[in-house]
Amino acid sequence: MLEPLEERLDQPLPAEHLPKEDSEDSELEHIMGRPPPPEGHNRPHTPGTPTLRPAAAPRGPGEHESRTGGQRGRVEFSLPSPISPSRPKSPWGRYDPYDATEDQDKEYVGFATLPNQVHRKSVKKGFDFTLMVAGESGLGKSTLVNSLFLTDLYKDRKLLNAEERITQTVEITKHTVDIEEKGVKLKLTIVDTPGFGDAVNNTECWKSVADYIDQQFEQYFRDESGLNRKNIQDNRVHCCLYFISPFGHGLRPLDVEFMKALHEKVNIVPVLAKADTLTPLEVKKKKIKIREEIEQYGIKIYQFPDCDSDEDEEFKQQDQELKDSIPFAVIGSNTVVEAKGKRVRGRLYPWGIVEVENPAHCDFVKLRNMLVRTHMQDLKDVTRETHYENYRAHCIQSMTRMVVKERNRNKLTRESGTDFPIPTAPGVSDSETEKLIREKDEEVRQPPHTQTQEQECVTQECVDQECVMHDECVQESVQEECVMQEESVQEAEHCAELC
Ligand code: GDP
Repeated sequence: MLEPLEERLDQPLPAEHLPKEDSEDSELEHIMGRPPPPEGHNRPHTPGTPTLRPAAAPRGPGEHESRTGGQRGRVEFSLPSPISPSRPKSPWGRYDPYDATEDQDKEYVGFATLPNQVHRKSVKKGFDFTLMVAGESGLGKSTLVNSLFLTDLYKDRKLLNAEERITQTVEITKHTVDIEEKGVKLKLTIVDTPGFGDAVNNTECWKSVADYIDQQFEQYFRDESGLNRKNIQDNRVHCCLYFISPFGHGLRPLDVEFMKALHEKVNIVPVLAKADTLTPLEVKKKKIKIREEIEQYGIKIYQFPDCDSDEDEEFKQQDQELKDSIPFAVIGSNTVVEAKGKRVRGRLYPWGIVEVENPAHCDFVKLRNMLVRTHMQDLKDVTRETHYENYRAHCIQSMTRMVVKERNRNKLTRESGTDFPIPTAPGVSDSETEKLIREKDEEVRQPPHTQTQEQECVTQECVDQECVMHDECVQESVQEECVMQEESVQEAEHCAELC
């Protein structure tokens, strides 16, 4: 685990708030906070931060993982033990979902504890998240990452001079830190792309980034298709913060190229870098321009999940504000300064102080809340359900094609009689078999435009799904191959499912 920054902002928790080792109750208390307040109470929120809740409809049991944020308005359950004998005994003590006065006499099966079970299991396992930062160097990527996670991830960074950068290719570097907050462990991996857009010729400089993302998918695909799937290391990139320069007029061609090349592979969240160099009006105009261009070029950035229609107005408004903030105008700083008697992370200028965490100065808090508190699990879900699924489907398709080709080649080889011994059909003598082999050999030795060549050509066309018209006999052959291919696809899919 890396050392926190010297001037780390977060204060150590008072001893009484620290989890007691080996005490499951205390562990739960610190992990989950206390049970949610009854209906009508204020939504839990952390002081000084918007009360935005995750908007996504539950996508699966893992959903509970990300929603362990600050819990407020807690209600202590100090009720006596259940009196109804049919009431399930839950091991959750005061986190027992049935532990309410109105529940005392009702009969229950007990599955309301399922969320607790999932929650507990995932907390024990810990969480991981991989964030990629991309964009021209000098736009404040490392500073922002340090500000976001209150760590110094770039201690050993070596900056290149202009001469070295002329021919520099895009490098991919990975930093991993284990962060623990209130008993919840997060393995955070930051993937940086130094050198992006730095060379004189930046044609296809996004390629190594795209390759890196694919390699992680490939590794995961191999791991989950292998025999031991117990401890798969998930290095898939869950989110890419793409830094847009505040000095240009909207997107540059390289920005468009990068985002278009990667939008099917990763959740892209665009950010407007160094927002303190722009006036509020300029920020507003640039955001509108960038959003228009994203639309115009058909770039598919990460879409925040739609909010449910039954959500309250306040929540809907917060959700809309978040969507309107794209691209998040951010400011980063590695230093703590004193503003209005408080020590805050900020940038000190001769004319004043820019506070990183002041919502009036930039969208830093919105971005951090979105990334960590409200949408981390959704980013992971979209990575798994959309981007990885696309990769996997593509992989299976290619594998199927290879299987079909291989099968056809084997079929032809078999027919030529070179590979396999031809079994003697019952009632056929050995000399007759030899005659058959000789005839087949003759067929194979025939010049071009023989049936063998035609069949190879038809097979290839079928594989490429461009079955074209030949004569009737060829069409029949195509149909046969198509049926074979379909069978192979089903076979491969069935195999992948089994894997
Ligand atoms: P990277 O190369 O993209 O990782 O950029 P760095 O984080 O190394 O920052 C490059 C320079 O920009 C450093 O001098 C930072 O202090 C400065 N910087 C970083 N963030 C900001 C910001 O939000 N506003 C301003 N004005 N400068 C920043």
